[in-house]
Amino acid sequence: MQLVLPPGISESALNKALNDFRGVVGQQWVFASDEDRDTYIDHFAFDQTSHIAAAAVAPSSSEEVQAIVRLANEHKIPLWPISRGKNFGYGSAAPVMSGSIVLDMSRMKKIQMDLENGVVLLEPGVGFYDLFDYVEENDVPFWISPIGNSWGSVIGNALDRGVGYTPYGDHAARLCGMEVVLPDGDLVRTGMGAMDESPSWNLHPYGFGPGWQQMFVQSNFGIVTKAGMWLMDKPESIVNLDMELDQMDDLGWAIDTLAPMRRSGLLQQSPSIGNWLRAAAVLTNRSDWYEEEGALPDSVITAIRNQFGLGWWSINLRLYGYEEVTLAMAEKVKEKFAARTSYEMKQGIWREGEPREIQPFAGVPITFPMMNSRWHGGRGAHVGFSPALPQSGDAALAQFRRTYDRYNEFGMDYHGSFALAERHITNVNQVLFNRDDQDMVDRVDRFFRAMVEDANEHRYGEYRAHIEYMDLISDSYDFNNHAQRRLNEKVKDALDPNGIIAPGKSGIWPASYRSRRSTG
Ligand code: ADP
Repeated sequence: MQLVLPPGISESALNKALNDFRGVVGQQWVFASDEDRDTYIDHFAFDQTSHIAAAAVAPSSSEEVQAIVRLANEHKIPLWPISRGKNFGYGSAAPVMSGSIVLDMSRMKKIQMDLENGVVLLEPGVGFYDLFDYVEENDVPFWISPIGNSWGSVIGNALDRGVGYTPYGDHAARLCGMEVVLPDGDLVRTGMGAMDESPSWNLHPYGFGPGWQQMFVQSNFGIVTKAGMWLMDKPESIVNLDMELDQMDDLGWAIDTLAPMRRSGLLQQSPSIGNWLRAAAVLTNRSDWYEEEGALPDSVITAIRNQFGLGWWSINLRLYGYEEVTLAMAEKVKEKFAARTSYEMKQGIWREGEPREIQPFAGVPITFPMMNSRWHGGRGAHVGFSPALPQSGDAALAQFRRTYDRYNEFGMDYHGSFALAERHITNVNQVLFNRDDQDMVDRVDRFFRAMVEDANEHRYGEYRAHIEYMDLISDSYDFNNHAQRRLNEKVKDALDPNGIIAPGKSGIWPASYRSRRSTG
């Protein structure tokens, strides 16, 4: 990629800043060639030229991050912090505002384990594989909570409210105690960390007075340089309960059956109800089934389901803990389902000491699901559309029907799931497309916007957004004429008067760049 300058900054001013950055991190840790810029583009973007970093700088410590932030203020150069930059479907390493300098923390890889309490203090560069290897090599009696494509950073994922499949799957909720470089270069520790040398920094999340931790999640108020993450105790057993549901409409009663079990804690992890394409798209290509344009017809859907023995929807439940307990819980779950359906529930059990399934629900990182991006052929990609809904079968079914009609209208193949948290559902749509097919790319953009508009009408907001759509989504959070956005931007301007940290992140624009907010 050719150089795109930060707004209002000349090439010589940029070069001066980069030279100063080199003074902090060393010559070899500032990346500013065309080839370097290519490594920080969003490989899943509709248009890779719309979010381009001017350069990148890779510090190795909190002190170096502080020094760079201070220099960025002097030079008025915007920074875009990333941990490992693997946030595929949401922007990867690319900044919202072109010309930002990526602050790449993938070199910061320290892991500090508190074996007594099952807590790990991590730097942002620690990936799921790094942490998994550490846990395995050191015989740590705790499990990590990996995500579907586990190549990213543990902290980076939690900071974008990523979710996993174990009982510790709500990653942002398992963060405990952060170290943050503020936009003026100051260094704070949240919660008990506000007390120097506190042994409870990563154990008690609140400390004294207001809790600031969540303020640094999905925000641009600071750069997280360390964070505590709670790990789950190694379970003695896992019971699997799997069910295939034959009809589209089964979604409604299935949600209503699962919701009270999830709420009461009978189910400790977030069960996800996904459709047939979730499995089929990682195992096959679309062209194996169908060569025509438009959404797959019912006859092809039936053929796919038959081949893999899939329902229209699949439910996969996992129960963790002592064997007597998980088996008893399984009986309860089966009893609740038996009252609603005659579909078979298949049961299996894993016991400590047996080989684990290579699956995130068993604490093992994988990247295999990424295969789904080749579904359409060409340079495949996906983009996430994931509104949060109340935990109601009727609401979920209506949302499904609405989105299914939209998929058909735009000629897309339905790839959706409904994940039950404790009180809400996240309706995750992973929209698969081929970036080499311009007509499809244009359609996906229009389709995405139509889905946002539909969700907005029902007052369902997205829990997370791709960098291209952050303004669009932030716009839908509109109570009292966008009072929350006004609050965010008041805080932003107070903390970051030069607007140097991640302008535009989550729709939060500093005064200096506010006119760049997109309105379309
Ligand atoms: P991952 O590699 O786990 O996928 P990323 O590095 O892509 O995570 O980060 C996801 C998003 O979270 C980024 O776009 C960035 O805006 C934000 N982010 C990541 N790491 C940090 C951090 N250490 N401090 C502040 N924001 C961060």
